[in-house]
Amino acid sequence: MSYEVCAKCGKRLRPGSVKYIISINIIADFDGILPEEVDEREIARLIREAKKMDQETLEREVHQGMVYLLCKPCRDIFAENPLNLSLKSLSMGGNFSGLLQ
Ligand SMILES: [Zn+2]
Repeated sequence: MSYEVCAKCGKRLRPGSVKYIISINIIADFDGILPEEVDEREIARLIREAKKMDQETLEREVHQGMVYLLCKPCRDIFAENPLNLSLKSLSMGGNFSGLLQ
């Protein structure tokens, strides 16, 4: 019998079992504003660094997509704390300044 495997715990996920696809997209957010204190030498340095990077690394700096298959217990753990925040942060009532939705 073929089966899939939970990406986190390695549990076998038989056909028809409860499983979840976790899709993560990390996208560079540019608000169109360049800091005033960045001078031309700094910009030239950043361009030199970018030229040294390979295409794959440059693309990953702009967008990185990841997809994982998880069993229900691992999905529940992930959903509770997807950013792997400390217990101190979680005890603040779940209101995080960086939360967009
Ligand atoms: Zn699992």
